[in-house]
Amino acid sequence: MASFLMGRRAILSLGGAGSLGYLAYRADKESVQARLGTTNIHLKYPASANFPELSQHNNTMAKCLTPAIYAKLRDKATPNGWTLDQCIQTGVDNPVHPFIKTVGIVAGDEESYDTFADLFDPIIEDRHGGYTKDQIHPTDLDASKIRGGNFDEKYVLSSRVRTGRCIRGLSLPPAISRAERREVERVCIDALGSLDGQFKGQYHSLSNMTDEEQEKLINDHFLFDKPVSPLLTCAGMARDWPDGRGIWHNANKNFFVWVNEEDHTRIISMEKGGNMRAVFQRFCDGLNKVQGSIKRKGWEFMHSDHLGYILTCPSNLGTGLRASVHIKLPNVGKDPRFDKILDCMKLQKRGTGGVDTQSTNGIFDISNSDRLGVSEVELCQLVIDGVNTLIQMEQRLEKRKSIDDLLPASMRPQRRGRFS
Ligand code: ADP
Ligand code: MG
Repeated sequence: MASFLMGRRAILSLGGAGSLGYLAYRADKESVQARLGTTNIHLKYPASANFPELSQHNNTMAKCLTPAIYAKLRDKATPNGWTLDQCIQTGVDNPVHPFIKTVGIVAGDEESYDTFADLFDPIIEDRHGGYTKDQIHPTDLDASKIRGGNFDEKYVLSSRVRTGRCIRGLSLPPAISRAERREVERVCIDALGSLDGQFKGQYHSLSNMTDEEQEKLINDHFLFDKPVSPLLTCAGMARDWPDGRGIWHNANKNFFVWVNEEDHTRIISMEKGGNMRAVFQRFCDGLNKVQGSIKRKGWEFMHSDHLGYILTCPSNLGTGLRASVHIKLPNVGKDPRFDKILDCMKLQKRGTGGVDTQSTNGIFDISNSDRLGVSEVELCQLVIDGVNTLIQMEQRLEKRKSIDDLLPASMRPQRRGRFS
């Protein structure tokens, strides 16, 4: 709490000093409301007249939002003036996604998850396999517990673990003002500047980069894509691009911090080849160091016992962890059971260019689909065990042998019993 207040004071000091601070804060709040369009004009109409048209939608928000929930929440706002309509706009504007089922809602600040809990709770329960309101989220960053995780590089081309962390007291990217975004950048540069050893690195602002430099970092899979996805633009996350955005990396280019993309920070460990174990170890070490450094500067990450680390998209709550491999599975990838196999193993597939791409040449991005209610160690282990099985399947299919006995138990063909 103390650093939350410190954080807020830091913002106030941007607008005015001493006793002028509160007035500046109020003026700022009013201008935030004007900027965000949270005037009261829409309140002249009943909530029922303002309910979004969701009949063609395939996202979780559309599934969970009822007229009664909408009516209950429409006129509420977080202390920053962020409203339900702003949370759901991206889901209203994007009925379907070509490759994944999206969540369809974003938070504008940490408080959104409380103020609009009547909608966020059922969405979180649906998206995170029945995670209920009374559950406590576990955190475990002890990489020594990992078993195995050094994959055959004939199949695994690269390994990566990422999470997100957001800074308490500053708005999340859908709602963030320019000043707050620059403050996030300043806090990150300040904190990351004190890392040493293998984590010593440098910050590269997107505003100071040429288009060619950006393209190279994107093609090397180091940098986030430009915000072209309508999921981002409709959530207001492309505003002021590229102001305040950047990438920090160490000298070996195997530990990265993205600043002001979908979350205040995305923290990433990655390298070519199949050593997921080493990637996870460096991820845990680096993350602990970043967290320590942020704390020493008087800030802290958004977190609650129930939701774990709090991020913009409810799909990332909890660990925020996505452990992924780029893996060659030309045979398994063509098997009609592939999607079901991944589903049963709690794995997710993407194309190798990121979430908005489709796989090419039998190469997939395979990662954990869960984030909440399960620890980092458990999720990384699940990916390691799952990828081992997928490699075994691929080797069988190369020799045109059956994979039936490797299938998840619920998919194995039933043996015909004596009496059946
Ligand atoms: P995330 O949301 O986890 O950051 P995206 O799907 O948006 O992931 O992809 C971001 C970038 O990370 C893309 O360039 C993608 O190719 C890269 N990436 C993801 N997993 C891996 C991996 N295992 N090896 C190399 N690059 C990866
Ligand atoms: Mg992403």
